[in-house]
Amino acid sequence: MQKIQLLDQKTINKIAAGEVVESPKSVVKELTENAMDAGASTVTVEIKEGGISYIRVTDNGCGIPKEQVKEAFLRHATSKLSQIEDLEHLYTMGFRGEALASIAAVSQVEMTTRTKDEETGTRIEISAGEVKSFQDVACTEGTTVIVRNLFYNVPARRKFLKKPATESGYVSDLMNKLALGHPELSFRYINNGSTMLHTAGNGDAKASVFYVYGKEAATSMMEISFERGDYRLSGLIGKPELSRGNRNYENLFINGRFIKNRIVSSAVENAYKTRIMIGKFPVYVLNLEVDAAQVDVNVHPAKLEVRFKNDDEVYDFFYDAISSAFQDQVLIPRSSWEK
Ligand code: ADP
Ligand code: MG
Repeated sequence: MQKIQLLDQKTINKIAAGEVVESPKSVVKELTENAMDAGASTVTVEIKEGGISYIRVTDNGCGIPKEQVKEAFLRHATSKLSQIEDLEHLYTMGFRGEALASIAAVSQVEMTTRTKDEETGTRIEISAGEVKSFQDVACTEGTTVIVRNLFYNVPARRKFLKKPATESGYVSDLMNKLALGHPELSFRYINNGSTMLHTAGNGDAKASVFYVYGKEAATSMMEISFERGDYRLSGLIGKPELSRGNRNYENLFINGRFIKNRIVSSAVENAYKTRIMIGKFPVYVLNLEVDAAQVDVNVHPAKLEVRFKNDDEVYDFFYDAISSAFQDQVLIPRSSWEK
């Protein structure tokens, strides 16, 4: 056995980056979440070669003041939380202060940013965690991050990347989910020079479904709105005949964050149970707004999961919400919606 020693910061960053940055999709996810946290109303995502060689995310959010730009790339540097108790009332997507540090540890990053109070913006280039340049630059308000050559310095990880077409498919899925969950934001997604998605950002949830799943789905969804205690649910659920052969169309957002949760999906599926065939799954886009103290979002670095304070309460809430949506529907003549 070799002597125990403390790892240097660069090695720590590379190892930790593995948890946050798995693929081009996770880079896009982190950067778009930062854009949303910055209060952006438009977000443009461009990728080339599946995002392996090039990812650009541009937002019109608040920007980062010049004197804080380098800090933003330090591990555990965040403007969103200062003590653990803040998690109890945190509604931002980020809070771990890891994304930019992680991304910069395993790629070549260029950021251009300007706040509304600054006359000139800032441009920083970082490769493998090292600042290569830092200068003033003329630019519009907001932030653009370009990530080149993901995992160029981590061959073991690079090997695990899939073909560009597969990686861009994952990014497309993510963009679709973002569009579904955030109709209030205008997303533009460009893959190898072609615009794949461009949403209006006017807050119309059905329009988002139309963009992402097409006309048939959009006309077969019904609106739902349900409130009880600390939980408020809104969104769209598919009529039973819209059901699909897998769970990919089950979209749950908790306080704006896309979440996979077994309790919620089984509650919803059970509420659908007598209405759809065995082996079929519902289509839905549900947004749960809940007091931050009721959910722990700090379960995994990728933040795809949450832990609820009270699982049974959540199960009953979703089961009742969906069931009552169907009951309300029955009041309308069946022929008008069961087509
Ligand atoms: P986190 O989002 O968890 O705080 P990040 O590493 O993603 O950590 O970002 C670090 C900090 O950099 C953020 O807290 C925020 O202050 C700033 N930042 C990152 N991206 C943007 C952006 N697009 N616009 C404005 N500020 C940003
Ligand atoms: Mg972040």
